[in-house]
Amino acid sequence: MSYHSVQHIKLTDLANQFGTPLYVYDANKIIEKIAILRDSFKNVHLKIKYACKANTNLAILKLMRKHGVEIDVVSPEELHLALKAGYAGEQITFTPSGVAFEEIALAAEAGARINLDNLDVLEKFGQKYGNTKGALIRIKPHVFGGGNEKIMTAHPESKFGISIHQKAEILAIVEKYNMKIIGLHQHTGSDVKNADAFTQAASAILDLAFSFKDLEIIDLGGGFKVAYKDGDIITDMQEVGEVLSNAFLDFSQKYGRELQLWFEPGKFLVSEAGTFLTTANTVKHDPIKTFVCVNSGLNHLGRPMMYGSYHDIFNASNEDESVQEEYRVVGYICETDTFSWSVDGKQGERRMNQVRAGDIIAMKNAGAYCYSMASQYNSRVRPAEVLVLDGQAHLIRQRETLEDILRNTIDIDL
Ligand SMILES: *Cc1c(COP(=O)(O)O)cnc(C)c1O
Repeated sequence: MSYHSVQHIKLTDLANQFGTPLYVYDANKIIEKIAILRDSFKNVHLKIKYACKANTNLAILKLMRKHGVEIDVVSPEELHLALKAGYAGEQITFTPSGVAFEEIALAAEAGARINLDNLDVLEKFGQKYGNTKGALIRIKPHVFGGGNEKIMTAHPESKFGISIHQKAEILAIVEKYNMKIIGLHQHTGSDVKNADAFTQAASAILDLAFSFKDLEIIDLGGGFKVAYKDGDIITDMQEVGEVLSNAFLDFSQKYGRELQLWFEPGKFLVSEAGTFLTTANTVKHDPIKTFVCVNSGLNHLGRPMMYGSYHDIFNASNEDESVQEEYRVVGYICETDTFSWSVDGKQGERRMNQVRAGDIIAMKNAGAYCYSMASQYNSRVRPAEVLVLDGQAHLIRQRETLEDILRNTIDIDL
């Protein structure tokens, strides 16, 4: 029952009420994940900064804020959404990668904390603000961690952060402009399984930290791995919490001051809260394979085609497990557009309760990097989004219309 419902509301009822394709988010799951993270780091002064690029729906941002979670943004537009959700400037961290200095200045003027990501912007920030505004520095610690190479961000060849080997250059700029560096930041990547990658990165950052005298913050990024299927190895938060908290407390003692420990999880907070509902348009019994063709595609949920990522898929309209078949679940986009990637990152099939045309086909782990990456490719409108809060389903974004597709088109006479 619980598999086919969100807080006792059946997925099929949500599909009937709001139509498909539809993103459904369970607020309780998000609240639960916040509590797990807090509990894992209960011995340190923890601040959680939700990496909102995972899911920027305003209702999700407000939910985070209501539960004491602050926010990490990567663009001026996300900064604006954060302000709109009610965040104060100083609760917002701007962690961009290789952006124009104007964007950094804009965020700084709004009161946001900035993670400076290259020597150029460090210098410009120093020139403009001297010691009047604090800033953080994003360090590339040369650590390998992350689910696949597209989402690893701290290895030697990564574009992110200032190499830890450029310590001398960093310190020269900081000294030249008498800058107030209030924090060091690193983000290892996404889907980091082992505590080792976190502890390696943390120890590199903590070593470096002794070279800065004004620190208030150590920001260890996000990247905690969540379960995508039964038996998945996930980040053991209790273990990571214990190991990192101890290293951090030990460091704080030597540093002579208790610092804040920041994390910026995205996926960890919202991935499992989301379910994507589609409708089976047809079941195609090809001599080689049986395809379930749904009314969506990589335009709405791109992760399988982008990263070969695994999303659990099930038939929400049929709870009878006695008749099951192997299905390749595909979208309508004019590309391969397979949703059902296998465990080893290839297109595959899923065993599901028998599918009939019209059945609701649900995909799990659809809360992070799904809607926020959706596009209008094939000139299809983006889906609606629903948040289930205290047992009530709230529409939090309406389905787009043809108007939205034409909105910025300029129709010239030819
Ligand atoms: C994307 C991102 C995160 C969040 O990564 P998750 O894998 O979703 O936890 C955290 N910090 C920075 C700087 C990011 O760019």
